[in-house]
Amino acid sequence: MTSLIRSAIRAMKGYTPGEQPREDGIIKLNTNENPYPPSPRVFEAIQTALTGDRLRKYPDPVGTLFRQTAARLHDHDPEGILIGNGSDDILTIVTRAFVPEGGLIASPTPSYLLYRTLAELQGARFQNVPFTADWQLPLPWPASDAQLTFVANPNSPTGTLVSLANLEAFARACPNPLVIDEAYVDFADHDARPLLRHPQVILTRTLSKSYALAGIRFGYALGSPAVIRELSKVKDSYNCDVLSLAAATAALQDQDYLRATLATIRATRTRLDGELQRLGFATLPSSANFLWCTHPSRAARTLYEELKRRNILVRYMVYEGFGEGLRISVGSDAEIDRLLHEVRSLV
Ligand SMILES: *Cc1c(COP(=O)(O)O)cnc(C)c1O
Repeated sequence: MTSLIRSAIRAMKGYTPGEQPREDGIIKLNTNENPYPPSPRVFEAIQTALTGDRLRKYPDPVGTLFRQTAARLHDHDPEGILIGNGSDDILTIVTRAFVPEGGLIASPTPSYLLYRTLAELQGARFQNVPFTADWQLPLPWPASDAQLTFVANPNSPTGTLVSLANLEAFARACPNPLVIDEAYVDFADHDARPLLRHPQVILTRTLSKSYALAGIRFGYALGSPAVIRELSKVKDSYNCDVLSLAAATAALQDQDYLRATLATIRATRTRLDGELQRLGFATLPSSANFLWCTHPSRAARTLYEELKRRNILVRYMVYEGFGEGLRISVGSDAEIDRLLHEVRSLV
């Protein structure tokens, strides 16, 4: 029976998400979740959505209220906003809409591994292009014939940020669809909204990281209304449910709460970076809620395993042509204190 599965699917390994342990007592610094709870308004909104008749009926397929809220926040046309079941859903929709079988998807490397998986699912080719030495996109871009380019900005696993000027030059030189995956942009000093002037540019956002709603599954895209209308044809009619729409809308409405958590996480990031460097680690300058680090004499794999034995989970990653390292999420101050305490005994 499996021989009837499309050969592109049989040939692929499948995306491996980070470990999600179910036991208590584990300090989880491996998938960049927010260590702080979502805004109290999110809980109220979910409670309200649970009253009356709302679960019996289908949700609003386009998420009108969410779109209005996001449009106001980003100063963008509500018709240019697409809702998704997590931003991974948006990335899938964009791939299905733009990339033909046998087509080409490009992305700088090292970056989010899901992009390659999306290419494989679509039966498309995938081209990695190394970042420049200062973590920008090389121009001219060697894969300018790609039907779709994904740029995570800030990037994962490095946390580095491509400048607006560099993205602008890229968009001017390359007329093909460019998705700027801004999953971590709230932790950075600038976002790429000025690039929305270019009709081929799509920005994707998630509620999973800065808004502490990874368990809810909600993301969205900003783009030109004409493109978003086409993308809407590809999505499941009801890809976001009543509860996630209520939660996401309430979260966006509480920008004061967001600002407060972001300030805390950024301060902890600075502290973690300084301490890791004092312990001999090389770190990359991070605009996200995690740090990429390597140690000159301790293998990343060993550090990962030793920390895991001590109930601290970080992400060990290896990239062809780039090497291995640890990606450590910025947890709460107490979690980072525990991490640093254990790391001190290991290096
Ligand atoms: C976490 C992450 C996402 C996806 O987040 P969702 O939980 O699916 O919204 C997308 N891109 C990058 C680079 C990420 O790290």
